[in-house]
Amino acid sequence: MSDLEALRALMEADRWIERVVGQRSHLPELSELASVEEELRAMAQQLRAGDEVLAPLRAAADEAARESERLRSRQDTLRAKLDASTANARELTALQHELDSVGTMLRASEDHELDLMSELEPLESTRADLTANAQPLAARRGELRATIDALQATLDEELRALRDDREVRASALRRELRVLYDAALARAGGSGAAQVIEGRCDGCRLALAPLDLDHWRQRAHDLTFACPECGRVLLP
Ligand SMILES: [Zn+2]
Repeated sequence: MSDLEALRALMEADRWIERVVGQRSHLPELSELASVEEELRAMAQQLRAGDEVLAPLRAAADEAARESERLRSRQDTLRAKLDASTANARELTALQHELDSVGTMLRASEDHELDLMSELEPLESTRADLTANAQPLAARRGELRATIDALQATLDEELRALRDDREVRASALRRELRVLYDAALARAGGSGAAQVIEGRCDGCRLALAPLDLDHWRQRAHDLTFACPECGRVLLP
């Protein structure tokens, strides 16, 4: 294998690896997952904000219900006392008076309870809608995570094989060329060599100046001419 062939083989292996690495990090499922997670986070935030309003209202409604219950039971006790009473007229009047006042308090408490319930209802239904809408999204998030894990595991396996193959190709390269290539690879990333296609470096897309293009033509077969922009070894 000539130096040029060996260098080109290594460049192709590195470019292949770069494509798979790019594919791995740009899976369409990853961007869908990001937007699903963002939507779920926004919903959770709405839910928390809603609960901050709901919690004190629920507590107040519970308190009002307990108060109505207490007044109803007091009303029952007073009625029973009145019905069974052997008390004198003054005591009867006092009982009747208390019964009236408990009745007034009970009506007020029940009205208050109703007001709170009608405040709670729309909030509860918004909360229920939010929770219902979040369920399919949460399910989709689970599906996406599983799909991504499976795809990335397959790509990781492919990458392991590609990197093994790359090492075989790299060890076929002469030492000086390998040092040159590795240095360019470390600088430019992806691959340490590129090709000149229609006067451009196909690594960084820079159009070579006419003078550079002349220099490259003279030195291309020495495999030492580096792209002035990205530093990759420019292959003929
Ligand atoms: Zn370049």
